[in-house]
Formats: sequence, C-alpha cells, structure tokens
Amino acid sequence: MTERNPDTLMEKIVSLCKRRGFVYQGSEIYGGLAGIYDFGPRGVELLHNLKAAWWRANVYDKENYYGLDSGMFKNPRVWEASGHTSGFSDPLAECRKCNTRVRVDKELAKVGVVADEKMSEKELNDLFDAHRGEITCPQCGKKDFTAVRAFNLLVKTNLGDFTSTGSEPVYLPGEACQGIYLNFKNILDTLQPKLPFGVVQIGKAFRNEISPRNFLFRLREFEQADTQLFIKPHQNKDAYEQIKQDRWNWYLAIGIREENLRWKQHENLVFYAKDAWDIEYNFPALGFDELEGIHDRTDYDLTQHQQFSGIDLRYTDPETGEKFVPWILETSVGLSRMSLAVLADAYTEDDLGGETRVFLKFKPSIAPVKAAVFPLLKNKPELVAKAREVYQMLKKEIPQIVWDDNGNIGKRYRRQDEIGTPFCITIDFDTLGETPEMQDTVTLRDRDTGEQQRVKIDELVELLTKAIKV
Ligand SMILES: [Zn+2]
Repeated sequence: MTERNPDTLMEKIVSLCKRRGFVYQGSEIYGGLAGIYDFGPRGVELLHNLKAAWWRANVYDKENYYGLDSGMFKNPRVWEASGHTSGFSDPLAECRKCNTRVRVDKELAKVGVVADEKMSEKELNDLFDAHRGEITCPQCGKKDFTAVRAFNLLVKTNLGDFTSTGSEPVYLPGEACQGIYLNFKNILDTLQPKLPFGVVQIGKAFRNEISPRNFLFRLREFEQADTQLFIKPHQNKDAYEQIKQDRWNWYLAIGIREENLRWKQHENLVFYAKDAWDIEYNFPALGFDELEGIHDRTDYDLTQHQQFSGIDLRYTDPETGEKFVPWILETSVGLSRMSLAVLADAYTEDDLGGETRVFLKFKPSIAPVKAAVFPLLKNKPELVAKAREVYQMLKKEIPQIVWDDNGNIGKRYRRQDEIGTPFCITIDFDTLGETPEMQDTVTLRDRDTGEQQRVKIDELVELLTKAIKV
C-alpha cells in the first residue's frame, strides 16, 4: 500500500468525489457559489449511512435520548438569547503596514490558542492582545495589527418582512441545536423524562463565512448532528467523561483509524463553560483540526432562554420537589466535515495485478453501495436474465445494491472500488450450469483483497447482511 501523502490527498479526494458522484460544486453550471456543495448519488448514500449510524448510537442504543426535528426558522429573539447576534463571528484584524486581513482565530490557532466561535468582540480582543507578540503578518512579517473586528456569521432572510425595512430580520440557523433548547419544555411536559435525559437532532446550519475553504471542511451551508444531555447541576464530571469516551469510540466503530484522531482541550472558554474538548481529525491539506466539539455548558442555554422568553424552564425533581435549571453536556459535529474525514480515511492506493488502483476502504456498514451485481457479458440474454433475478432478490433485502453492466469486468471492478463497494457479484456461465456442480453459484469479489470466491446464490443475503452490519 502506498503512503498517504498529505500534500496531494485533498486534490485526489476532490477529484474522486466529482468523478464518482459523491460531491459536486453547488450551482456548478452557473460557475458555482462559494462555500456550497451538493452531495451526488453516492455522497447522499454515504451521508444517509453516517446519519443512520449516528442516530442509532445516540437514540436507539440509549434509553433516555429523544429525537427531534425542529423548524429552521426561529423567532429572532432566539438568536439574541443564544448570543449569536452579538457574538458568533469571523474575527478579522488588519495589518497596519500592508493592510492584509487575517482571521484572528486562525492566527491564534497557529500559536496554539483556541478562540471560541461564540466569543464577543471584547473577549476576542482581550485574547488577541494577550498574544499579539506571537502573531506575525503572513504577508509582510510585521506584528502590528488593528483591533479585532467581528463579522457576524448569521445569515439574514426576509421571511415575514413585507415592508422591506428589515428591522427585525429572521435568520437562518447559525447552529442546529437551538431547536433542542426551545423544545425542552415541550419534551418535559409531553414525555415526562427524568434527568439525566438527552435530546438529539440533525439539522441544517448556515454561516456567512468570509472565506469558505478546504472543500467540505468549512462551508456556508451544512448539516449538524447535535446531542444535548440534560443533567442535575454539578453532576457533570463523570457524565462528561462518559460522553467523550462514547464519541471517540463511535468514530472507531465507523472505521476511522485511531492514529488520525486526537483530543484537543480548549484553553480559552466562553465565560459560562466548564470544559470543552474537540475530537480532531488529521484532515488532508489541513492537518489536525476540529471534527466534533464536546462541551460542558452548565445552565447557560436554558437560563438565557428562560430570561429572554419569560417562560419557566426549570425541572422539578420528582423526589425532592426541588426546582432548578438543568445543566447541559453537548456534542456537536458537522456532517460534511465528518464525510470528509471518512472519505480521507478510506482513500487507499495499492498495487493490484501489477496496476496501481485507487479504492475507498469504507467499513461496509457505511459504504454507499453494499454490492454491485454484474452479468459477465451484457450481450448474452440468459446471463442478463439470471443476473437481474439475483439483483432483484438482493435489492429487496439490502436496498443499497446496484446493477452494473457498463464496460468490461475490469472497468466495473475499478469503478466499484472507487465508490468503495465492498462486494461485487458476477453471474457467469457456471451460474447457469455450464459446470454442473457450480450451477446457481456466483463469484463474490472482495474489494480489499481483490480475491474471488464461489458462493451459492441462496447464501448471498445472509452473507452480505452479516458483513454490512454496523
Ligand atoms: Zn503585513
């Protein structure tokens, strides 16, 4: 196997994603739109599989976690309460010598300082001032910057504004998790869960990024998968450690190699937070950077919404009758970023039959196509008929099965390897009974080894179902 080359890997992944229908540039025929990508037929299946695996781990495999799907548009007061209209910005500073603008959070990160995205302009300036001596202009090398100006990332809309004054804009969600806080009381009142309990959601988020970049890493529109665990005040420590462990293990379970993951603790917390860690992934072209955030947020979110809405959001302890605002432990990951990590981790080049080949070594449970079914030759009706029969039979049990009769067998293997299809099934003349003892068997080719074995058609469903199990 060839070494993973961090310098060219991103280019290769972008090219493969386009070539094989994973990811396209948004509005491509019009020249595109910065920071927007579309998931193609293969990409959307990968995304579905990742979401399903995530949902299973965070809802079905737990007893006290509840799913939610809240509306994207929210009362404008929500974003005031959450701090997004004042904080939540791209912080920029300008070099006084050459007028180059820098992203302050990125420059701070280079010297090992993490700035929280929800920091206010003042918090950012304090942090920047404390580290000015370490930060040099990437253009001229001077250390003379203006104060930090924060450019708000919320995307405004004109929903419900029929006067065109735009006085109180409705925003697209800057993060998906707010819907969970807004429905906390509804869930309490309707399902009567006892603490600790979790509410989870997968939802879209929009950010007016000044410089979207690095393919799926930093986008203007993306999906987030969030969990919020509501707990009793001060009972955060053990639960937080457990969540951190669970989330780390989940990445291993979907096939991410452990050497490409690491922990990073935030040094500079927003004032209300107790602790914050990122699971970082070794992204192509970027190196280690945030994949998922795990945050110990105290009672800040619900207290803010209680104050701004005037609605009592306290929980009543069923034993003691005591009323209090629960604390929150949060996990949050962008699914586009997760897809990029999964694609990068799966990208493999090796030598097979004297040729270099590219394949995506997805864990079968997340592969967008589980198996491809081929007739050996597409101009032999009896082969095609038998292959169609096998294809239909498999598809009933395992929906992510494709039919492929385009080009010769070698080309089909190559194509399926690049999609990451773990199994290819070929119907040949032996299947039809040319060699009597092989009647009703097919060849089953393994993606990773390229090896083929003869398998009875009757055994295919069981074999595949077992192999693709999460
Ligand atoms: Zn400069």
